[in-house]
Amino acid sequence: MKPIIYLDHAATTATRPEVVEAMLPYFTQQYGNASSVYGLGAESKKALDQARATVAGALGARPEEIYFTAGGSEADNWALKATAEAYGKGGGHIITTKIEHHAILHTCEYLEKRGVAVTYLDVDERGLVSPEAVRKAIRPDTILISVMYANNEIGTLEPIEEIGAIAKEKGILFHTDAVQAFAHLDISVDRCHIDMLSASAHKFGGPKGVGFLYIRRGVKIRSFIHGGAQERKRRAGTENVPGIVGLGKAVELAMAEREATVERVTGLRDYLIDRVLQEIPFTRLNGDRKRRLPGNANFSFQFIEGESLLIMLDMEGICGSSGSACTTGSLDPSHVLMAIGLPHEIAHGSLRLTLGEENTREQMDYVVECLKKIVARLREMSPLYEDFVKNAAARD
Ligand SMILES: *Cc1c(COP(=O)(O)O)cnc(C)c1O
Repeated sequence: MKPIIYLDHAATTATRPEVVEAMLPYFTQQYGNASSVYGLGAESKKALDQARATVAGALGARPEEIYFTAGGSEADNWALKATAEAYGKGGGHIITTKIEHHAILHTCEYLEKRGVAVTYLDVDERGLVSPEAVRKAIRPDTILISVMYANNEIGTLEPIEEIGAIAKEKGILFHTDAVQAFAHLDISVDRCHIDMLSASAHKFGGPKGVGFLYIRRGVKIRSFIHGGAQERKRRAGTENVPGIVGLGKAVELAMAEREATVERVTGLRDYLIDRVLQEIPFTRLNGDRKRRLPGNANFSFQFIEGESLLIMLDMEGICGSSGSACTTGSLDPSHVLMAIGLPHEIAHGSLRLTLGEENTREQMDYVVECLKKIVARLREMSPLYEDFVKNAAARD
């Protein structure tokens, strides 16, 4: 079997060995319920407090503003549904964008059926939301603006600081899905006037099934998981102590290494992008050339099918994605690629490669060589390409 080259870090990451090691004692030795009075429970409570402080520190927030959840989707659902309930009075208006993750988009659709109005803002050809468009969309009944920090498919970094300033000026709550950005980028909830922020551990070397919602002090949203009094009565359920310890450890490691990792991964990403664009004809890069996540490269190869490309890359040991893990199995092109204005046939030939700290330049060289061969082979078999070549010959 070929060694695996993992280039799908936006879908999930391996849990780092240091993280697993930090988690282990909380399964078999320090397994106490954090709400219990005996010493064993207190050990768990201490571990939760420490993780909460680490997460808060990474955002410039207070520990009591961090609420652990079972991941990014739960945090997104909670932020939107609870805001609609607390501030919408049976109606209300939410401003979001056409390129959000489905955890936001499908929640908005759910809320629309229950009387909430939603504006889905367009983005430009790079995937950028215009702060002015946000301002213009504000209505007297607007209760929430929710714009993602960075897009999971094309990597575009949104103007969060500008949008936050508008929300603050207008007195409207501002939520950001920072699942792709948190622990990778320097985020300050105060500088960006963020009232709520979602993140998930498995996108940065932590375990799956654990994340958090940051809720600024004073934001009056309630729990939507009802039960015990955990998480300051805002999220019931016995705490996932090992998971939360793992989340905290992953944040600690990511923050300590952040600058060096960003520099290294950005360099690799640019090397990959430059080579692919220069060496494979009829190829475009989706998203902004510079204003993108350090590890994100998203290409469209004209005349081919992204799914066939993925299968052939897999045979070479390369893990990539055609956009978003959630759209796999559906024939519709990604909503994000549609929103940036790609024609269907070009969007269908798209490939997302997302890099992590363990990837190397040798791997990038191997990937480029494989891509050159595979794209050429798929084009040879493509009727679209055959027509194109014929028409080009007729024009000459
Ligand atoms: C992965 C992802 C989510 C969902 O997070 P889970 O922890 O998998 O539920 C939400 N938003 C974005 C932008 C993501 O990339």
